[in-house]
Amino acid sequence: MQLHAVQADITTLAVDAIVNAANRSLLGGGGVDGAIHRAAGPELLVACRALNGCRTGQVKLTPGFRLPAKYVIHAVGPVWHGGGQGEAALLADCYRNSVTLAMAQGCASLAFPAISTGVYGYPVEAAAEIAIAIVRAAAMEPLAEVIFCCFSAADHMLYQRLLGRLPR
Ligand code: ADP
Repeated sequence: MQLHAVQADITTLAVDAIVNAANRSLLGGGGVDGAIHRAAGPELLVACRALNGCRTGQVKLTPGFRLPAKYVIHAVGPVWHGGGQGEAALLADCYRNSVTLAMAQGCASLAFPAISTGVYGYPVEAAAEIAIAIVRAAAMEPLAEVIFCCFSAADHMLYQRLLGRLPR
């Protein structure tokens, strides 16, 4: 399995599935969620309305509609409250459940944004360590490629370093 980091807008990636950092309503929001809904078109909101929301740490699947990606996996990350409220386990659940669902759908390629590290306030490096460890442990056939899609150059450098591509 190939694991790598890119700096990109996740809505432009032609992979089998992209993960959305959604909220529990699944009815759209700001950040990456807003970008995904804008790029996928209004059919995505219609599909999400039928899902009745999603619990923190859990994931739900929709088509990608107008996106180059076939599917969107909507994952609800934890809001950071200082680390004492099970945030790490819930973030790990997001990554593990996304990988499991992607494999069950037969996906060969999957891209993640940095879930919870925007408006939800999760410290980026701690979140990236969880993301990489869980994906490394959970991803197997038919998932051949997992991309960590970083929005900022700083996040990209961080992921490259944690993946061993840059000197510490
Ligand atoms: P959360 O509410 O889970 O914190 P955000 O959308 O606020 O979600 O932020 C999660 C991450 O997604 C942040 O690193 C943010 O910079 C990044 N992000 C925002 N827009 C995009 C995009 N179009 N493609 C990829 N990543 C994005």
